[in-house]
Amino acid sequence: MYFFKDFHIYTLRNGGKYDFFKGSLLIEDGKIRKIFRKDSDEPFIPEGAEIIDGGFRHMIVPGFIQTHIHMCQTSHRNMAENIPLLPWLRDHIWPFEAALTKKTIGLSVIAALKELVSSGTTSVLDMGTVNHQDVIFETMGIAGFRYTGGKAMMDAGTGVPDKLLEKTSDSIDRSVRLLEKFHNTGNGLLRYAFSPRFALSCSKKLLREVRKLSDRHDILIQTHGSEHKEEVEVIRSMSGLGNIAYLDSIGALNDKTVIAHTVHPDESEISLIKDVNASIVHCPSTNLKLGSGIAPVYKYLQKGIRVGIGADGAPCNNALNIFSEMKMASLLQKGINHDASIMSAKDAVGLATINGALILGLQNITGQICENFDADMVILDMDTPQTMNFECHPTAAIVYGCDPRNVRSTMVAGRFLFRDGNFSQEIKDLERFFIEMP
Ligand SMILES: [Zn+2]
Repeated sequence: MYFFKDFHIYTLRNGGKYDFFKGSLLIEDGKIRKIFRKDSDEPFIPEGAEIIDGGFRHMIVPGFIQTHIHMCQTSHRNMAENIPLLPWLRDHIWPFEAALTKKTIGLSVIAALKELVSSGTTSVLDMGTVNHQDVIFETMGIAGFRYTGGKAMMDAGTGVPDKLLEKTSDSIDRSVRLLEKFHNTGNGLLRYAFSPRFALSCSKKLLREVRKLSDRHDILIQTHGSEHKEEVEVIRSMSGLGNIAYLDSIGALNDKTVIAHTVHPDESEISLIKDVNASIVHCPSTNLKLGSGIAPVYKYLQKGIRVGIGADGAPCNNALNIFSEMKMASLLQKGINHDASIMSAKDAVGLATINGALILGLQNITGQICENFDADMVILDMDTPQTMNFECHPTAAIVYGCDPRNVRSTMVAGRFLFRDGNFSQEIKDLERFFIEMP
């Protein structure tokens, strides 16, 4: 039990308004049990609660949610530079992934986890690789991270290494076995998502089957779509359709589908995503670095499409830092639309909190500082030069001023994974375990 005494508290609420006040929080059994507002509530500190005194120098914000990431790729950071999407995948990323072992995948996801929690991310939707997904689930379960993910599914395509190319039936069987073993375990923190990689590495049969399984088990589907012009042109030459229209034409899309990127859809495909009620995940740094373009995110939000945000993989941007993604998301839309009034800092925080929770179906559990929600939260040090006057516009201070240096502590479901600059003992032990693994 923790009592966070004398903090600034910031959260977005449903409907897009933000709530910012001075107060205290009681955390019990992993949940935000009680919020005390300084102006109106008399704080009550139960016996046995550890008191953490913020002295009004720190701000509690909801834990950030990244709805597209590849934790297993982290060990390939800084090893595939200045290359566009398809050769980047075929000549670098897939061979890297094919070579991963239990040891190197463990080290990779621990490196990702350390970067994520020390920069304020408490939850992800992660695309794993084809093999060793069980290692990722087991590691995240021990660490206590809020992890939704699945093994990448790849049963087709040119340039796919032998170790990643699966038979359709094997890909489906392995995915279902992982779902049965891990979904809703780890006190509900671990969840499964079917993960067909993208249209060019998945057969129609696989994509149709995944859609049926998603409907039957009420499970998310995550995939990449319409990321790069070359990818879209290959699909058009095969099918006569754009990437999103192709996925829909074969019956692959439903309201639990989460499409990463969506940089190059035409107008009819944008309407199609809205009609199907699928979600989009914006990955601004990756789209810039791989030369893919800039997704029309402001347009998506205006149409009422759910949009989340993610750093994608470490080799493609080359960081997993949510603050730079939020800042990029806001600034790019203002710039390309020549309009300073749109895509505010608040909209960017929305992608990484409320929208992320909605995409994951966890909107009643996380994404806000709210009584009886799980205590997924980040403590930001606001007593820094880059955050001066933060009380004037706390959202602007978070998005444009903060960076990982401001993150003092990160908590998932009431448990510190990062506290005052130190990782939890579980994370340190996991790292040692994988280092010593033969
Ligand atoms: Zn990706």
